[in-house]
Amino acid sequence: MVHVVIVGSVGLDDVKTPFGDVKGVLGGSATYASYASSFFAPTGLVAVVGEDLPGEHITILKNKGIDLSGIHRQGKNFRWSGYYEYDMNEAKTITTELNSLATFKPILPESYCAAPFLFLANLDPDSQLDVMSQVKRPKLVVMDTMNYWITSKKERLIEAIQGVDVLLVNDGEARQLFGTSNLIQAGKKALALGPKACVIKKGEHGALLFTHNSIFSASGYPLEIIKDPTGCGDCFGGGFVGFLAKTADLSEKNMRRAVVYGSTIASFNAEDFSFERLKHVTLQDIEGRFKEFKDIREF
Ligand code: AMP
Repeated sequence: MVHVVIVGSVGLDDVKTPFGDVKGVLGGSATYASYASSFFAPTGLVAVVGEDLPGEHITILKNKGIDLSGIHRQGKNFRWSGYYEYDMNEAKTITTELNSLATFKPILPESYCAAPFLFLANLDPDSQLDVMSQVKRPKLVVMDTMNYWITSKKERLIEAIQGVDVLLVNDGEARQLFGTSNLIQAGKKALALGPKACVIKKGEHGALLFTHNSIFSASGYPLEIIKDPTGCGDCFGGGFVGFLAKTADLSEKNMRRAVVYGSTIASFNAEDFSFERLKHVTLQDIEGRFKEFKDIREF
């Protein structure tokens, strides 16, 4: 049975970084997130894909055992192109072609509606709200977003945030969304909207977890090879939700662990383009790096 439902985009990405460039590779928020979540818990993906999405891209997800019964095929696939400069923490979007994503009305398969964990990966807030109305009281609803939606649909986005348990945003987006340069203030403003927790991701510099009683600061993993950070935020989110689903423990202490597991998977993802690194990662690799994360923080 699917334990974690992930709704978001499946993308065809063109990405350029100082270390290479790729075209038409598998990307998308739901893709990376479901791959990361499936290391820990049975995961189902809800998304629209185009007729032009190559079969081999779907095979990557199938081989990982992700339930794909929530995939709907129609029209032309969502496409995103972007680049990174030497500061790899910020993706610069060149083009966003929504294509079939523009008219996407997510419909959850009946069997997904009672899944205990829901991750609304980066997607149109209208679709995120629509999905929330279809599920039967999950134990935990987590959502992510990005500047594209903050700029184009802020009011609907705020409505969506008011209905979730955990909000994930990166530092630049948190500043934009909450109109402050200070991340502590941004985290507090996020909690004031209703979520029990908020994670502000700081790229290679780690993440901050805000709950009503505490702030936890996780370090980043000291990676020597960062080829392409695309999808790291989504891997973080998927790993975070998947770990909470596996452990069925929503305490603040366990959320801290989930933050570090999410960061661990994201750090692997950054080592190569698209799914090239993740395809070879095992749960044992993840556990090994999780332990290293612990050692780095000890003082
Ligand atoms: P991340 O690097 O984790 O923030 O996410 C990167 C992924 O987000 C890429 O693989 C894109 O396909 C996808 N993406 C980019 N723009 C959007 C958007 N407006 N809505 C949904 N997904 C997007």
